[in-house]
Amino acid sequence: MTQATAVETADGRDYDAVVVGASLAGCATAILLGRAGARVALVEQRTDPAAYKRICSHYIQSSALPALERLGLLEPMIEAGAVRSGIRIHVPAGWILPPEDSSLAGVNLRRELLDPLIRSTAAATPGVELLAGRTVEELICADGAVQGVVARDTAGERLRLTARLVVGADGRGSRIAKLAGVRSRRVRHGRVAYGAYFQGAPPAGAPTASLWMLDPDMAAAFPTDGDLTFYAVMPVKERAGAFREDPGAALVEALQALPDAPPVAAGTMVGKPQGKLDMTNEANVPVAPGLALVGDAALAIDPLWGVGCGWALQSAEWLADSVTPALLGSEPLARGLRRYRRRHRRALRGHAVMMYDYAGGRRFRPVERMLFSAATHDAGVARIMEAFGSRRIGPARMMLTATPRAALARLRRRLGGLGRTSVSAPGREGSPRAAS
Ligand SMILES: Cc1cc2nc3c(=O)[nH]c(=O)nc-3n(C[C@H](O)[C@H](O)[C@H](O)COP(=O)(O)OP(=O)(O)OC[C@H]3O[C@@H](n4cnc5c(N)ncnc54)[C@H](O)[C@@H]3O)c2cc1C
Repeated sequence: MTQATAVETADGRDYDAVVVGASLAGCATAILLGRAGARVALVEQRTDPAAYKRICSHYIQSSALPALERLGLLEPMIEAGAVRSGIRIHVPAGWILPPEDSSLAGVNLRRELLDPLIRSTAAATPGVELLAGRTVEELICADGAVQGVVARDTAGERLRLTARLVVGADGRGSRIAKLAGVRSRRVRHGRVAYGAYFQGAPPAGAPTASLWMLDPDMAAAFPTDGDLTFYAVMPVKERAGAFREDPGAALVEALQALPDAPPVAAGTMVGKPQGKLDMTNEANVPVAPGLALVGDAALAIDPLWGVGCGWALQSAEWLADSVTPALLGSEPLARGLRRYRRRHRRALRGHAVMMYDYAGGRRFRPVERMLFSAATHDAGVARIMEAFGSRRIGPARMMLTATPRAALARLRRRLGGLGRTSVSAPGREGSPRAAS
């Protein structure tokens, strides 16, 4: 349902907020602002209501589950076939198994289903007007602040939309960030990504997802709705040549060469394999006067860690909570934007710095090797590493708690296995191997 909420002005329409981009971050922002009582224009360049992001392995970390629940999306996702799962991780020392507590599981639903679901939820939210088939090409600026956008429809007609707040939710390489001229940082990415959905070829341990940290390459398997599994490989760029000629065959070959290789040859590849060659990390200062950036528009980070969808939803939540008082008239907008910037930085900066450091394609450092190795046989270290990997705790807490414990576990093993604990559970796939 589309609601006419705008105030018509002589040369356009006026809203409390104009959100540019109706994917995860933009729809989540629009839903939360609309529910809070704001009049929101949600502007999307694509016309098809079923449009979705094609290159994404769709795994949403458990840290974003509260945001999905608050948006009212988790239950409809499960009804649409979403699969809840943790991740088992293969490192040189063996398998690290996820906790058995199902409340700590992430969620898998193909973007083909998720994106239309969140978009229709946004369009049905009172106060939200979805303007599809309109590309934002300009920002309207006055008195040193962004005050609206100019959008062009498919027939070339220009529409002026003014608002107290413009939200850039337009993804990686954000045009809104560029038009606003916010400060930006780019960090090289040294891997490429290829992946495809397979029918009837789940990995051992399914529905648990699998991640192979091959030091320095990576591969992953995410079982999802419709009895499908998304298989992906992320080799360093120097090895990308093998994929150029026949990406599908190279993908299958790389998967079959994995330790405890998944049975891909027994299944069928559904659709064409997708490849992504440039995944440069890009961080934009997420606010400017009259403007905020959410999701990938604020921080487009290495997809290896499967955090972008969750952070798109969570940053929308942080923004909506930060600016609602201003949009309802109880404080200046600048105060709400400062609050959002602080919250974004506090939650994501530490994670981002660690991800930049690994994104270039380097091998594990000794401390990482020790942590991963200990997690294959010490349940406490495994628990901490899982909480960090799913982004429920930050890097400082992870290092402070996991490092001494991992060092102790290593010492114990060297002294003859005193006090060893195991993360394996009876009857579970992928039992841990001896640590190196
Ligand atoms: C290979 C790969 C694998 C990934 N795997 C995972 C994973 O497993 N888990 C995970 O959490 N994340 C993953 N990600 C990241 C995830 O896909 C993104 O972080 C997430 O989609 C960001 O959502 P968003 O809403 O910010 O942006 P997007 O989903 O990119 O949406 C941007 C929207 O803005 C619209 N738009 C753009 N410009 C304009 C304009 N000028 N006017 C109007 N509309 C506009 C677009 O059409 C689009 O709808 C992966 C990414 C890659 C590349």
